[in-house]
Amino acid sequence: MIIGCHVQMKAPRFLAGSVEEALSYGANAMMLYTGAPQNTRRRPVSEMKLEEAAALMKENGLPMDRMIIHAPYIINPANSVKPEVAELAVSFLQQEIERTHEIGAKYLVLHPGSYTTTDAETGISTAVKHLNMVNVAEDVTVCLETMAGKGSEIGRTFEQLAQILEGLKQPERYGVCFDTCHTNDAGYDINDFDSVLDEFDRVIGLDRMHVIHLNDSKNEKGAGKDRHANIGRGTIGFDILRGIAVNPRTAHIAKILETPYIGSKPPYGYEIEMIRSGVYDPAVLDAMEKSR
Ligand code: FE
Ligand code: FE
Ligand code: ZN
Repeated sequence: MIIGCHVQMKAPRFLAGSVEEALSYGANAMMLYTGAPQNTRRRPVSEMKLEEAAALMKENGLPMDRMIIHAPYIINPANSVKPEVAELAVSFLQQEIERTHEIGAKYLVLHPGSYTTTDAETGISTAVKHLNMVNVAEDVTVCLETMAGKGSEIGRTFEQLAQILEGLKQPERYGVCFDTCHTNDAGYDINDFDSVLDEFDRVIGLDRMHVIHLNDSKNEKGAGKDRHANIGRGTIGFDILRGIAVNPRTAHIAKILETPYIGSKPPYGYEIEMIRSGVYDPAVLDAMEKSR
């Protein structure tokens, strides 16, 4: 099972610290931001302790595509109302692709954006226009994330993502990141994951799914909300999420937890262990909650 979680990337250990954190949870994959997700200040990759990180990954038998990069959520290529927002999205995404390439990572997860005060169709065509202004390096695959549809987000349906993908000049350098919380909140019946996969395959193509975000949801199916819950503590539940983690059709795809910290502590070590073993012990997370 390829399973990991969101990890930090911060001074003084940078990428080496990200790998160490992932290994400390028993993870064999990880996802990180190259800096704070809410701003565009970034250090050069040459200062990120890449050699040490790469050596650690090699030592532990992890190929570099197990280090997944998430673009900051302030990038909004779908904004046609404020040109400066989309301009920033284009230039920052271009730099983020170059950083991903420099790191030697393969997958860069990107939220397709929000249409703000226009409409979904305008948002989709605006996103296509701006993504086509970016040159994706040959060894990088930008993975558009399935979104919950909160506010004016595009990418709520597979059809919307397919529409974006179809408009791209470099379609072979784009794929999809499937988020279980988001698709549940968007209205897909995650309880029947195989049917959702069939639908995904029909509309987008299963071969274009490269990352899975494995999260429980605080909201009911179709709520359009996007609030992640710890595994087993949300409306999707442990059995369904574990079933997704072991589904043979997506066995080759890394599952990344983006579940909330409990108090100030990351729950990932326990969550990964429970998903690997198939044994859910709610008392472990409850105890973390009490000791917060
Ligand atoms: Fe995301
Ligand atoms: Fe996600
Ligand atoms: Zn989310």
